[in-house]
Amino acid sequence: MSPLVAIVGRPNVGKSTLFNRILGQRKAIVEDFPGVTRDRNYAEVTKYAAPFILMDTGGFEPASEERLLVQMREQSQLAVEEADVILFVLDGREGLTPSDEEVATMLRRVDKPVLYVVNKVDGPRQEEAMAEFYALGLDELHPVSAEHGLGVGDLVDAVLTHLPPPKAPEPETEEVRLAVIGRPNVGKSSLVNRLLGYERVVANPLAGTTRDSVDTPFTYNQKRYVLIDTAGIRRKGKVSQKLEKFSVIQALKAMDRSHVVLVVIDAEEGVTDQDLTVAGYAYEKGRAVILVVNKWDKIEKDNKTLRQYTEKLRMSFKFLPFAPILFVSALTGQRVAKIMGEVEAVSAEFNRQVPTAALNRILEEAVRSHAPPMIQGTRLKFFYMTQTQVRPPTFVVFANKAEGIHFSYERYLQNKLREAFGFEGVPIRLIFRDRERKGQG
Ligand code: GDP
Ligand code: GDP
Repeated sequence: MSPLVAIVGRPNVGKSTLFNRILGQRKAIVEDFPGVTRDRNYAEVTKYAAPFILMDTGGFEPASEERLLVQMREQSQLAVEEADVILFVLDGREGLTPSDEEVATMLRRVDKPVLYVVNKVDGPRQEEAMAEFYALGLDELHPVSAEHGLGVGDLVDAVLTHLPPPKAPEPETEEVRLAVIGRPNVGKSSLVNRLLGYERVVANPLAGTTRDSVDTPFTYNQKRYVLIDTAGIRRKGKVSQKLEKFSVIQALKAMDRSHVVLVVIDAEEGVTDQDLTVAGYAYEKGRAVILVVNKWDKIEKDNKTLRQYTEKLRMSFKFLPFAPILFVSALTGQRVAKIMGEVEAVSAEFNRQVPTAALNRILEEAVRSHAPPMIQGTRLKFFYMTQTQVRPPTFVVFANKAEGIHFSYERYLQNKLREAFGFEGVPIRLIFRDRERKGQG
């Protein structure tokens, strides 16, 4: 997982402006799907020398100064517990407030890097006003104008120097890592208990606990799995368990370490923005996804309910048309036994390697039944396709106009691959390369 950089500070100091400024232009795959809302509070930033996840911890409800202080304390505490670097943003126009001073005092005591950012320093006049902030007794202040981009480059450089060294990726092993994610109270722990209690699942008594989640190795059908449970950890949290955002961070961390993600949804509550956010992340990270609608026992049903619910889910999760959906009840145990079968099937697809000859047959057929478009007066041509990777299945397609290929034709080819080979539950990646350019080295 990339390190986490958290932005904290009072409302209106410019946190979200700074967030967007650091992020710059970014095209999220999920945004290609109209109607899919996205949590703009966190994003993976990859355009600098080292990747990190940037998180805007703002979003307070309007409150009295007293209540605000409580919220700021919680927010900063969350950042202290979870983040690798903290950006504490102050308002250079408004000057210091008592709550700023209080939070600064608290942050000074933590042993994580905190960068003090004075925002809205748009010109020389505000620079003079900086003096006031030195009263905080800090060695270093970072004046920026988030709105105009001034000082932001230097700030990012400072962030980069404070990032922890990249962790070695988890060694690739045979085992399938399965993350169970979802909002608090959707029934994750109940499901996990059911799953591990299931007679064909042999839990390994040496369950290991890491800082970020509870890992339980187990065996199913002679195959080894590790269950990454984010629910267990939440119970250990202190301040942060009250904060919904905490569960998002936990979900991101768990998904980073997983292969297959069970996105658990509460049948009664339906799909929330947070569900879409975490599922979108799973998709962008190339994880296999199964949608698990839990608490199905609570829904009053007639013969149309299942179909209608499925349609509704498909509308919400437009970017996951390939994800299987299971309707279960952790309470009664209904269909819980189907989950591992589905996980097994999906992880087989995740690891599937298609021979090049078969791929090129499909490519030829696809081109025959739907000719590629013209690009700048030249007919787009595909030469050759090969699978370069599993987990997720990744295909390189050599073409004459690789950079001009439209998303819709890419989607078309993806669908052809799915028609031919399945890949249920698994995102697939197509990478287009110019053959000519490659030849020139
Ligand atoms: P947040 O509540 O901390 O996320 O603050 P916002 O990012 O929503 O910004 C609050 C207000 O401050 C908005 O009206 C912004 O346009 C303004 N603002 C943000 N950054 C700057 C800046 O660098 N200079 C000036 N003058 N205004 C800014
Ligand atoms: P978590 O926070 O996601 O781990 O959720 P829990 O497993 O702690 O469950 C939250 C609450 O929902 C508990 O009161 C459970 O008893 C209840 N619950 C969990 N699964 C089901 C279910 O399938 N049906 C019903 N009716 N209640 C459930």
